[in-house]
Amino acid sequence: NRQILLAKRPKGAPVPEDFSLVKVPVPEPSQGQMRLRTAYLSLDPYMRGRMSAGPSYAEPVKIGEVMVGATICRVEASRHPDYTDGEWVLAHGGWQDYVLSDGTGLTPLGQAPENPSYALGILGMPGFTAYMGLLDIGQPVKGETLVVGAATGPVGATVGQIGKLKGCRVVGVAGGREKCSYAKEVLGFDECLNHKSSDFAQALARACPRGIDVYFESIGGKVFDAVLPLLNIKARIPVCGLISQYNATALPDGPDRLSRLMGTILVKRLKVQGFIIFDDYGDRYDEFARQMSQWLESGKIKYREHLIDGLEAAPSAFIGLLQGQNFGKLVVRVNDQ
Ligand code: NDP
Repeated sequence: NRQILLAKRPKGAPVPEDFSLVKVPVPEPSQGQMRLRTAYLSLDPYMRGRMSAGPSYAEPVKIGEVMVGATICRVEASRHPDYTDGEWVLAHGGWQDYVLSDGTGLTPLGQAPENPSYALGILGMPGFTAYMGLLDIGQPVKGETLVVGAATGPVGATVGQIGKLKGCRVVGVAGGREKCSYAKEVLGFDECLNHKSSDFAQALARACPRGIDVYFESIGGKVFDAVLPLLNIKARIPVCGLISQYNATALPDGPDRLSRLMGTILVKRLKVQGFIIFDDYGDRYDEFARQMSQWLESGKIKYREHLIDGLEAAPSAFIGLLQGQNFGKLVVRVNDQ
């Protein structure tokens, strides 16, 4: 049983030495338990927060503990009355091959789900985040302009596509030309801009001639700076993430712009609302799952995965996620099915 542990708390960007790989015996279930064998492990930006000791909405991983993460597993050696061997489940097994479970927190996925790993992405936490954040907080209206960052990731790509279904002009922000072409040609965004280009702020202004009505915030930093002056009166900002700041060790240099931000919120009557998906919307999961399955099946929503092979590759893939090296939902194929 391979396990990847948190070896050290990162200073700034995580490095491979912050993780360690150990091998321990395969665990044996006792009565009322089952063993779960990990097929897929999800890598997500929130894991960076769990590596730090600072206060957040969830407990940090302790040094020497297995890194947390959602997993798609198959049931083995079941001694649990409700689960049979071979069945697929969505679990929170963490970065390891095997974990014991008494069924708490598991979502059954049946004996032969079509795309089991989708429960980590479009049909799971990131898809749900896009759906609720955009529709409940962003409240897009036909004809409005929606701007969304990390536009080819599982949250951003889904936000933009739902925005198109609602009749918005959708402008994506992504890192690099290839991602931007994908957002326009495959996902159907009206525009997509590279945040790494030197004239990004001007290009954003040109792409939003009627201003911005909904800014789905996943990035912060320079992208938010470019968005702020373009916001329309009564614009909505679902604050979903601030990935450009996750590795920061101090506040950025430069003048304090808080009063300008507050002034803009006042004068433009902005609605700025953060959310933590399951804490705030857990009771609406079924509504989301029904709607998203329908959109996927009818081809109205497209979904891209970035699959990595082998548990050993998880640390470097995760480090890359925080630098934009993934292209689509980052998932580790841990074991053959
Ligand atoms: P993604 O797969 O989109 O991966 C993150 C992407 O962020 C990278 O691929 C990169 O895309 C972009 N990025 C990374 N670093 C920077 C940077 N310094 N500046 C600009 N862009 C950067 O992740 P998800 O779709 O899973 O998550 C997107 C956001 O949603 C994150 O902020 C995450 O924390 C948040 N989230 C919040 C939840 C909530 O409940 N509030 C739940 C789930 C996710 P590119 O190369 O295009 O720049």
